[in-house]
Amino acid sequence: MSWRNLAALTLIQATILGAGTLHLKTRTFEPGAAVEDSVMAPLRHWRPGSSHYLLQFKGPISQSQLDDLNARGVTVTGAVPDNAVMVVAPDGVSFNGLDVAWIGRHRPTDKLSPVLANAVPLGYVVEVHADVSAADATLMLLDSGVQIIDRSGLVNHQFLVVASPEQVAYLQAWDEVSYIFPASQDLLAGVDLVGCSGPLTQSGHIAQYVLVGHGWPLNGASVVVLNYYFGSLTTKVPDVKTKSEILRAFNEWGKYVKFHLNAGTDAQAPNTIAILFGSGSHGDAFPFDSSGLTLAHTFYPAPPNPEPIAGDMHFNAVENWNAGGNIDIYTVALHEFGHALGLGHTDNPGDIMYPYYRLGAQLSADDIAGAVNLYGAAAAAAPTVPATAPVDPAIVPPVTPAINPPVAPPATPSIPKTSLTLSVIAPVPATTDAFISLAGTASLATGSISVAWQTDRGAAGLATGSANWSIPAVPLEIGANMITITAMDAAHLPVTAVVSITRQAVSAGPDTIPPDLNLISPGVTTLSTTDAGITASGTATDNMGVTKVMWLTNAGTSGTASGTANWQATIPLYVGTNRVVIRAYDAAGNFRWRSFVVVRK
Ligand SMILES: [Zn+2]
Ligand SMILES: [Zn+2]
Repeated sequence: MSWRNLAALTLIQATILGAGTLHLKTRTFEPGAAVEDSVMAPLRHWRPGSSHYLLQFKGPISQSQLDDLNARGVTVTGAVPDNAVMVVAPDGVSFNGLDVAWIGRHRPTDKLSPVLANAVPLGYVVEVHADVSAADATLMLLDSGVQIIDRSGLVNHQFLVVASPEQVAYLQAWDEVSYIFPASQDLLAGVDLVGCSGPLTQSGHIAQYVLVGHGWPLNGASVVVLNYYFGSLTTKVPDVKTKSEILRAFNEWGKYVKFHLNAGTDAQAPNTIAILFGSGSHGDAFPFDSSGLTLAHTFYPAPPNPEPIAGDMHFNAVENWNAGGNIDIYTVALHEFGHALGLGHTDNPGDIMYPYYRLGAQLSADDIAGAVNLYGAAAAAAPTVPATAPVDPAIVPPVTPAINPPVAPPATPSIPKTSLTLSVIAPVPATTDAFISLAGTASLATGSISVAWQTDRGAAGLATGSANWSIPAVPLEIGANMITITAMDAAHLPVTAVVSITRQAVSAGPDTIPPDLNLISPGVTTLSTTDAGITASGTATDNMGVTKVMWLTNAGTSGTASGTANWQATIPLYVGTNRVVIRAYDAAGNFRWRSFVVVRK
C-alpha cells in the first residue's frame, strides 16, 4: 500500500467522545496543553522542507478536517488511537483554525522499542514513516554507517540492519525514522517467514510504533461476544478442512483468553468476523497483489473501524494455501485472529504477533498476555467455541478437542544445541592499524549460515560468505577491542567466538580532520547498466594521510579499494537498484563518504 492511499483517509468512526489517551508503545498519555512546548523545535530531517507531527483532534476526525489538512499541504501517514493521526507537514505550517486538541512530536525516545532496554540484539528492524521513499531511507541508513541486510519478504517501509547502539541512537533522531525494534534471529539468518504489514484501519495499516488499543467492547457480563462467518474459501483445500483449520486457530486463542465465539449467519452483522479468500480487489480499499507478497490482512475491531468491516479477515486467494504445509492456513489464521481480537504487532521475536513469523509458529506467553490484558483469562482448559453453538448446516461444527483431535501442527523446529561450529583464524594480538580483517570457518551439515560481528566499541556488521566467511575491515579504537563473532542458522542456537585485539597509538595528538574524497568515475550519481560490475575510481587526501578507501552497497557487500590517494574499486552489481557508498578513512578512523546509484537491468 502506498502513502498516496493514506492521503485518501476516510472517516475514522471512533465512538469515544473526548480526545482521550494517546497510545504509543513507548508512552500512553493523556495530552495536556493544546500544543507541546517542543513542537516547533526543528528535528533533524533527511529530506529538507517537511517533517512529522502527531495531531490529536477533539473527537472523531471528520472529512472536512482531513480536507483542511490537505489544503495546508499536510499528508496523513498513519492512524494513532485515539482520534489522532501522524502527519507529514511542510516546515512552518500553521495548524491554526483546526479543531486540534493537541499537537506534538514523535520524539526520538518514542522510536525505540521498549524491548531494547533489556538486551542489545544482533540486528534491528528500522521502520520509516509511510511517506518516506525506499531510496531516501536507504541513503539515510547508509549515511548512519549501519549495514543493510538485503533479504526477501520484508514489509514495506521496514529495513533490516546490523547496527551498533551508537548508530541506533543516531538513527532514532532522524525525523523520517518512525520506529526501531529488534530483528529476530530468523530474519537475520534468512529463514523463510511470513511478513505482515499490520492490522488495518480504514486509513491504512497500523504502524509498529502504535500500541493498540481497546479491542472489542465487553457486554454487561464483562465478556466479548463475537461471531464468525465464512464467505468464499480457497479452491486449493477442501472447504471442510479450511474451516476446521481456521476454527482450530480461533480455539487456540480461546484456550487462554476469555471470549465467546459463535457461528454467525450474516457477514454484515456487528461483532462478526467475516472470513473470505479473495484476489485483487475484493471489496475493500486494500486490493491484494497477484505476486503473493501479502498473504492476508485483518481489520481492527470497532472502534476504530466501522461495521461491518471491523474484525474481518481476508486471505489472498492466489497463495498456495495448504493445511500443515506451505502456506499453512492454521498459522496465518492464528496471527490474523490476533488482529481480529484487537492486538497489534509486538516487538518480541518469537511471538506469533511479531510482524515476521514462521509457518508452524505457536502462541507465546507474551501473545497470550496481550489478549488476556484486553479480555481476561479463559476459565482453565475450557474450549472457547462451545460445542452447542448454533450450527448452520453449511458450516462445519466448531472444533473442540473432544470432537476433532488437534491436527499435528507443521514441524516446529526445536532448537538443538548441536552441530553448528565456528572458528576464527587467529588475528595478530596487537596493531597500530585502524582496521583489521578477520576470517574463519563455520560448519553445518546442511543449510546456510550467517556470521555477524560486533565490537565492544560500538561497531557491528555482517561477514561475507558462510562456510568460509571474512570481514574486510573491523574498526579498532586505541586500547583493547573485544570482537564477538556470532554464527547463526535456522535450526540451532547461535554460537559465538571472541577475539581481543589491542590497537596501539602511534602519535599523541588526536586527528579529527576527515580526508577529502573525490569520485571521478562514475561521473554521475545515478546510472544504469547491464554489466555485472562497475569500476569506481577517484582521489582522496588527508592531513595525516589516507589509510584506506572502502566501498559498501545496500546488498551488504563491501570491500577495500586498491590505492588510497588514487583509488580504484570493482564493485559487483545485482539486478535492480544498487546503492554504493565509498568511504575514505585516515589512521584516526575519520572518514568522508560519497555515494552513487547504479540500476542493473
Ligand atoms: Zn500482522
Ligand atoms: Zn481485504
